[in-house]
Amino acid sequence: MPLSAHSGKGCMASIELWQGDITTLAVDAIVNAANNGLRGGGGVDGAIHRAAGPELDSACRKIGWCATGQAVITPGFRLPAKYIIHTVGPVWGAQDEATSDTLLASCYHASLALAAAHGLGSIAFPAISTGVYGYPMRRAAFVALNAVRAALAEVPSIERVILVSYQPEMQRIYGEVMRGLDLGERYATGGRS
Ligand code: ADP
Repeated sequence: MPLSAHSGKGCMASIELWQGDITTLAVDAIVNAANNGLRGGGGVDGAIHRAAGPELDSACRKIGWCATGQAVITPGFRLPAKYIIHTVGPVWGAQDEATSDTLLASCYHASLALAAAHGLGSIAFPAISTGVYGYPMRRAAFVALNAVRAALAEVPSIERVILVSYQPEMQRIYGEVMRGLDLGERYATGGRS
């Protein structure tokens, strides 16, 4: 059962935690932790490119570039997800910590805004920047949850946000941060409160 919480303030969207391979999710959009050149790579990026098929590389080449903290969209091709939103997280240590947090939050904001602009209702995020890009997991979880909660208030079309962990440790940290945040009585285990 996923951990789940309403985003609050009258917004009916849910934020869920789920552990597994994001490429298997049949949601409106999965988010890719891409690089600036959109050229594929290791980690979740490689997994998404392998599962979506070579058409994804062609689509990414046409777009060509995405700035750090911004997002672009392609079809999902062979994925069960309809779309892939590619966002580029900050490399930990490449700028000061506050700037890193701003850029990471911007990845979540920009991805949700793009999803809403396409009328999408459900979106799944990997833990952006916590792999090769080296972001501390707890700090990334805190930024992600706060950014999603804030962004949901501005994007009413989004009904469901899934924060995906690949590793059990990330899932545990997300749960702890979710409980520690001001989700208060709205927090529920195994369903919506
Ligand atoms: P970044 O370069 O942004 O750090 P990575 O792909 O290296 O991106 O890692 C981002 C996160 O995605 C890490 O927490 C990693 O464990 C996770 N991850 C890797 N493969 C998958 C997958 N198939 N599904 C979901 N998450 C994944």
